[in-house]
Amino acid sequence: NQGLGSWPARRARKTPRRTALVHDDRRLTYAGLHERVTRLAHALRGLGVRRGDRVAYLGPNHPSFLETLFAAGALGAVFVPLNVRLAGPEISFQLADSGTSVLVYAPSHAGLVDGLGETPSVRERIALAGERPGAHGYEDLLARAAADPIDEPVSPDENCMIMYTSGTTGRPKGAVLTHGNITWNAVNVLVDHDLIADEVALVSAPLFHTAGLNMLTLPVLLKGGCCVLVTAFDPDATFDLIERHRITFMFGVPTMFQQVARSPRWADADLSSVRLLTCGGSPVPPSLIETYAARGLTFLQGYGMTEASPGALFLDAEHATAKAGSAGVPHFFSDVRVVGPDMADVAPGQTGEVVVSGPHVMSGYWGLPEETARAFTDGWFHTGDAARIDEDGYAYIVDRIKDMIISGGENIYPAEVEKAILADPDVLDCAVIGVPDPTWGEVGRAVVVPRPGSGLTAERVLDALTGRLAKYKIPKSVVFADELPRNAAGKILKSVVRGTYG
Ligand code: AMP
Ligand code: MG
Repeated sequence: NQGLGSWPARRARKTPRRTALVHDDRRLTYAGLHERVTRLAHALRGLGVRRGDRVAYLGPNHPSFLETLFAAGALGAVFVPLNVRLAGPEISFQLADSGTSVLVYAPSHAGLVDGLGETPSVRERIALAGERPGAHGYEDLLARAAADPIDEPVSPDENCMIMYTSGTTGRPKGAVLTHGNITWNAVNVLVDHDLIADEVALVSAPLFHTAGLNMLTLPVLLKGGCCVLVTAFDPDATFDLIERHRITFMFGVPTMFQQVARSPRWADADLSSVRLLTCGGSPVPPSLIETYAARGLTFLQGYGMTEASPGALFLDAEHATAKAGSAGVPHFFSDVRVVGPDMADVAPGQTGEVVVSGPHVMSGYWGLPEETARAFTDGWFHTGDAARIDEDGYAYIVDRIKDMIISGGENIYPAEVEKAILADPDVLDCAVIGVPDPTWGEVGRAVVVPRPGSGLTAERVLDALTGRLAKYKIPKSVVFADELPRNAAGKILKSVVRGTYG
């Protein structure tokens, strides 16, 4: 097995007694992790999981998330991490779309899972809490399973994960990442961060997002370091964790780092152990960089996307000040270009679209050959982000060509929200735009054309979305308009809407 499923066994061979994972007061060594992963793999096989089958996980950060990922990998099965913030119908869609056959879920989501409608592909449910009707108990399964080695041959080209990202069509798409994709990304992180085996990572970013998993946790485990898993991010508690575990490496989106800097503990906490601080996932405000610099902390910056597993550009500590505002240069095994519509490189200083190629870029979108074909030109993945490159080759992300909104690190695709709002017959037309927000970076605003005389209120528009869409996708404000600007082809002119109502 040359895939991720072999990592615990390989680590257990080299560093069995080192700590791999810490969660609350529980410590798991690499030998311990390996044994639990092997038992879970046997248990999953006993439930009928075979090469290529999909195994989904729904829950906050917990060792079982990684155990499930590695156990699925040990069998050549494909791991599907689900966002805990999604509403029931959104979860159902991803389970059905991925054809997931086994769902592992946390106690926090038992109610949601019990209330899911038809999810015919899901044959087996595994509850972390144990003793749920219609579900196997996670620890029971492990206790009863064999622990002899699993030796399923898995090649780096095989599928490892399906990670859902939303899309311009209003329907989430599953980015299919191979074992090779994730391994190459982890190698890029090791090389460019200079990770060492004594790294102690604070994992408060969610594991179900590509950054928390692929930029932080997996590279540290590859190197034999320790990951402290945090169930729910809490800015004040962050300082206690840093001091208690002598954290060396943190990753977060700007909103998280902003909240940390606003904590009463910011001024006096002992942060001397922190060596690596990576910020990414959305544009990093210069004021945030300055706040941390004043505390003696340098931000490394990452730019990437789920489809690239995710690292594409990286700004190291050496250039953090001289190239402030830049997302950096390509990771070691990544190629990034800024091109015009003809795919020719634009001249330094000119703006073009960022395209990415490399062994870390996905093979395609799950079950969507046409969307996949549209996303690539000659092997280059179109990011939908606009950037310019300076004379030294440093990239500056200047805009998004796609309409996506990033709110506290969560992506919102307006098309998905617009579709949900248009379900109300009293809504004649609708456009969702991003407006700046001091806490979340951006939040959504709905511009709605109501049916005349319908008495439609902002409250009714928003209430109708509760339970249908994840809370973070629900706009924070509604503005009513008589009509929306459209071009000759009938497409809403988003830039005009943004100019008028943004
Ligand atoms: P995701 O798939 O959630 O990782 O979202 C990827 C998108 O987030 C990119 O296409 C960018 O639009 C945005 N993004 C990620 N990192 C950065 C960054 N450092 N600066 C600006 N935008 C970013
Ligand atoms: Mg993101």
